[in-house]
Amino acid sequence: MQIHCPWCGPRSLDEFEYGGDASKTRPSGKTQENMEAWVDYVFLHDNPAGRHREYWQHVGGCRSWLIVTRDTRTHEISKVELACASSRKGAK
Ligand SMILES: [Zn+2]
Repeated sequence: MQIHCPWCGPRSLDEFEYGGDASKTRPSGKTQENMEAWVDYVFLHDNPAGRHREYWQHVGGCRSWLIVTRDTRTHEISKVELACASSRKGAK
């Protein structure tokens, strides 16, 4: 499997490290009231079959954080974007 890093081009999976589920929204603030949201965000993980958005870091290259859309059944990658670009879009 290869991941096409936006900066470095196609690279072997060996150069990347999985960083978690990118489909979840990080809870804001750290209060007792949203502790359950934090537990869900940190410890509870879905195991989807099909398209899934995941964080990957190019640790063997430019060290960029990426959001990879991958089919968990076939490992086909349909989209790779920089995580910082995605968060800017979400901020608007
Ligand atoms: Zn890279």
